[in-house]
Amino acid sequence: MPSNSLARRIPKIHLHCHLEGSLRAATFVELADKHGVPLRYHPEGAAAAAFVDEPAEPVDRSAPYRFKDFEEFLLIFAAVSRSLHEPEDYARLAREFVEDSLAQGVIYGELFVSPSVWTFFNRELDVRTTMEAIAGELRAAKPHATFKLLPDLTRNFGAQSAMDTARQVAAMTDLDVIGVSLGGDEGRFPATLFADAFAFARAQGLHCVAHAGEADGPASVRDALEVLGAERIGHGIHALQDPSTVELLAARGVALEICPTSNSLTGSQLRDHPHPYLDFDRAGCVVTIDADDPAIFRTSIEGEYALVEQIAGAAALERYVRNAIAASFAGEQEKRTMETALAYLAELPAAPRS
Ligand SMILES: [Zn+2]
Repeated sequence: MPSNSLARRIPKIHLHCHLEGSLRAATFVELADKHGVPLRYHPEGAAAAAFVDEPAEPVDRSAPYRFKDFEEFLLIFAAVSRSLHEPEDYARLAREFVEDSLAQGVIYGELFVSPSVWTFFNRELDVRTTMEAIAGELRAAKPHATFKLLPDLTRNFGAQSAMDTARQVAAMTDLDVIGVSLGGDEGRFPATLFADAFAFARAQGLHCVAHAGEADGPASVRDALEVLGAERIGHGIHALQDPSTVELLAARGVALEICPTSNSLTGSQLRDHPHPYLDFDRAGCVVTIDADDPAIFRTSIEGEYALVEQIAGAAALERYVRNAIAASFAGEQEKRTMETALAYLAELPAAPRS
């Protein structure tokens, strides 16, 4: 990346980033050793239904995040979640996340955390204490950056668990919880299962976002909009298979959180649309760029911005970052402050434009 690239200089906004997926590889191995858990999750009994068979090959401890497909990625995500056992592990995760974020010029983030995954692996874990540990470390980023939380209701655990999690996190707005999200297996656990949990969250004043159109088709994106009332769509790339869904996204101005490396590594990217942000942008949709699970995908928010700058140009990247500010759930004053930070950049003499 050229040292004067916009990707390097521009303030960065996280709208689609899983905190657990940001765990540094070395810390993952260290925590896994500390708690005596393997670097891949081994599903057993009822849990096997939610995941797939473990990979046969041994894991390289110096590169524990190498995976061959989406299913192995899920096993890694589960293993990472299992290595995070106590509130102090989550505090370390958040502390290192802040360090890595500030080093890249991140100024704002709305982060996913998955409490139902935490307690699946550690029944004893107190979710509130853990959220306090996380929020405490994230607040240490101020005044350089502000982070808020969008706990994930996690499709794979079903409707009741989603409702339980929604109730639990609705009482944690004092810990910077501003909404709920929905990740996991779209195909086997469709949006209709989670309509009640999302209606509850909305009635509590929480924002609603959902992953959709990542592994499943355009109908999943429509359902996220119509059934869940999602205010932003995570990925959404399979909407490109259906022009009317793209039109709907454009007409409603619902932002798409596009994560290029994630989509390419999980195999969810469509062959005809290698750079889906270009297609959505041309169709008048609101595009934002993010890193998803940056550590597990061996990327970073700066790395994703750099990829996009290379393909779409600096002007497009700047627009996508402005979109992210507008599509965030920040207050008006907070948005103006972020806009000012961006405007300052535009005046830098060395700024290359395309
Ligand atoms: Zn995601």
